[in-house]
Amino acid sequence: MPPPPSLYRGRFAPSPTGPLHFGSLLAAFGSWLMARQAGGQWLVRVEDIDPPREVPGAADQQLRTLECFGLVPDGPVLRQSDRGALYREALERLLDRGDAFECHCSRSDLAGSGGVHRACVAGARRPDPAIRLRVPDGTVVDFVDRVQGAVAQDVAQVVGDFVLKRADGPWAYQLAVVVDDAEQGITEVVRGADLLDSTARQIFLQRSLGLPTPRYVHLPLVLDADGRKLSKSLAALPVDGNDPLPALRAAWLALGQPRQAWPTSGSLATKLDAATRVFDPRHIPRTPPATLAALHNTTAIDAA
Ligand code: GLU
Repeated sequence: MPPPPSLYRGRFAPSPTGPLHFGSLLAAFGSWLMARQAGGQWLVRVEDIDPPREVPGAADQQLRTLECFGLVPDGPVLRQSDRGALYREALERLLDRGDAFECHCSRSDLAGSGGVHRACVAGARRPDPAIRLRVPDGTVVDFVDRVQGAVAQDVAQVVGDFVLKRADGPWAYQLAVVVDDAEQGITEVVRGADLLDSTARQIFLQRSLGLPTPRYVHLPLVLDADGRKLSKSLAALPVDGNDPLPALRAAWLALGQPRQAWPTSGSLATKLDAATRVFDPRHIPRTPPATLAALHNTTAIDAA
């Protein structure tokens, strides 16, 4: 049941594509801190709708790691693989109104427009068409992200008619995330800035479905030593659930929080509780304050 509108409800929504790495820990800890500080709830949702990308056992491993980090959700963990009926219902509504349509275009059909779909140009019908959302010309969505500031995107021009259900079967992330955020009563989405580009699309889809738009907070993406985004890097190392404090402290610094504000004594639970009380979202930087190595080295230097 959706919460009363005054209640803050945040979430962490990992895809089970491998063990939790520092980038996902940052999204988990950042969203947890925001929810705790607002006196709200924090939920976890496993985004397991893309079987080819899923690694067997990864979801359970991620949940165990979160627990080792003291990040415990305030409700049952949802799995998107159980929620096809909700996505189907939303899709049917869009199809019935003519806002969504079957599309037979292949990747190569759309190569000429850089992959952006503005009209069907399919050379042949396929047995398994994708379903796309129609994005009329001039669909410009703007919003204010609490960290990244004002963002505007011409969704028609930059993205085009986007996929809601893929030709190979799976539900598209954009549809599942919009349906679930609304159904779970999420009031604020806190996640990595790699998803900033998807947000205008999601807001447009919320409006098409008559769903509320949550607030958005896109956290800086920490870079590895070569300046690559961690989440995209093959070198992103799993965080160690047996030794949570160094990674939590590095995440605290990546969130722009003062080093001296990180609690130095007490159990993990006591430290997390103390961190919640001094956490200040206004310090979160738009861009990474340091590379991952530098964030961890500071820890080493301080611990020495
Ligand atoms: N499942 C997505 C990921 O792991 C995150 C989705 C979201 O936070 O909206 O990258």
